[in-house]
Amino acid sequence: MGKSHRGKGLLKMPSHGRGTCPICGRTRIKLLYPVKIDGAQKNVCKNCRNKETA
Ligand SMILES: [Zn+2]
Repeated sequence: MGKSHRGKGLLKMPSHGRGTCPICGRTRIKLLYPVKIDGAQKNVCKNCRNKETA
């Protein structure tokens, strides 16, 4: 745990871990937190990681 979402780990991810958050709709934000939305696993930004669904 810990720093898995920082540094080199990001470079291995598609788009370096960035994209559009499916919850808040912010673009080019880092999507680091996998959550289940409607039964599907999606990555959301740090602001949405603790929310269930919007
Ligand atoms: Zn978000």
